Amino acid sequence: MNKMLSKSTFMHGCQCPKRLFLHKFKSKEADPYDEQAMQVFQRGTDTGVLAQQYFPGGVDAQSTDPYPGFESAKRTAAHIQSGEEVIYEATFIHDDTLVAVDILVKTSEGYDVYEVKSTNGAKSQHVQDGAVQYYVLKGAGLDVRKFYILHFDPRYVLRGELDIQGLFKATDITEGVLENQKWVADNLTEFHGLLAWGQEPDIAMGKQCDKPYPCNFKGYCSRLNPPEPEEEVVLDTTIDLNQDKLNSFQSKLSYPLYFFDFETVMFGVPVYQESSPYQQIPFQYSLHVLEHPEAEMRHYEFLAEPGIEPRENLIHALKSHIGATGSILVWYQSFEEGRLRELARDFPQHADFLEQIIQRLDDLIIPFKQGWVSSEAFGGSSSIKNVLPVMVPELSYQELTIQEGGTASFVFSQLAFMPKALQEQTRADLLAYCRLDTLAMVKIWEKISSSDKFSIKG
Ligand code: SF4
Repeated sequence: MNKMLSKSTFMHGCQCPKRLFLHKFKSKEADPYDEQAMQVFQRGTDTGVLAQQYFPGGVDAQSTDPYPGFESAKRTAAHIQSGEEVIYEATFIHDDTLVAVDILVKTSEGYDVYEVKSTNGAKSQHVQDGAVQYYVLKGAGLDVRKFYILHFDPRYVLRGELDIQGLFKATDITEGVLENQKWVADNLTEFHGLLAWGQEPDIAMGKQCDKPYPCNFKGYCSRLNPPEPEEEVVLDTTIDLNQDKLNSFQSKLSYPLYFFDFETVMFGVPVYQESSPYQQIPFQYSLHVLEHPEAEMRHYEFLAEPGIEPRENLIHALKSHIGATGSILVWYQSFEEGRLRELARDFPQHADFLEQIIQRLDDLIIPFKQGWVSSEAFGGSSSIKNVLPVMVPELSYQELTIQEGGTASFVFSQLAFMPKALQEQTRADLLAYCRLDTLAMVKIWEKISSSDKFSIKG
């Protein structure tokens, strides 16, 4: 049994032969799945089931088995024999390799294969996946005509009921699949040889451990060969200012000054009306307001309720928090501007308001990107996560439960499924995270807008 490969173990072998070996012989050493990885896996499974409706009325070769296996292969053969038009999880074995394809469709000129992916297009790794499946299907004697990736269509907009025919789009990858047949055969020979040999390959950790996907044996490999402790590099935290450029940047701004930041969430299958696959949906913002240089800073925030379309409520909250004049500072303008333009498109009744917000945006990243504020300790980056510890060391994300946007997005998507107490705590964590994003801007602004407040460290 251990010599049998599958599409995923084949792809493990392509990433790193040691990963394939560990998967087959030392699977207990795998890192535990984290919640976000599980969600990605579940998303793929859910999308596969949904996509079956693109070709409704088929038979399922996997039946009640947890995974497609030998029994599914037997059922597939029987379904083909009886002339079924559409087979889900059609399973084939050839050259000690077992693969299942999501949807197999019989045509008058052979079979078309549809492999479902929860992405907005066909990617190069999908072609490699497809090449392995095609190799096995052909080897098992199936007359394959075309090979497609069935992925989300990013142009689809949810209006009313979910339209499966509009949500998915089929991209023909047959040419790429055919070009990779020798590559599949060569790799299979190598991988079968490795498994027959039965010795753990001596491969050092490197770039392959995260490409194209993070390897799930990183814990094991780093225990085996603990990385050399990195020599501590002490970066020079001196901050250099180009005061003329900063003065000219500031002279364009007008009070009240607003410091603004969105958090967003994405769903492959749109859950809100007037939204598309993987559209970034703003669900939260934080806003600090400084009326004039000596004024007390005020803070406003919005966080959507789970299960409720967040965007229109968010726009109403913005209208009550942002006045008609003054500059709106963001960090990395193209992100906030992009979301505001999408809101204006999807809620045209608020487009005038959103358009005037866009016109008032200014990007606080510019002085850092342009090098008007520079420090070796920024590490060559103008990300707020790199700039903040140098500019305002007393302010830190380290104490927060949520420390970056990806986690904020993930926990928001889970909020509706949490028990009440956890939901309340998580809402507080989300608010604290987003608040710090704009507070960080405020503190950085204070430092660069008044050089006498500026403590240059060396
Ligand atoms: S952690 Fe890296 S070296 Fe170890 S098996 Fe995975 S990819 Fe290979």
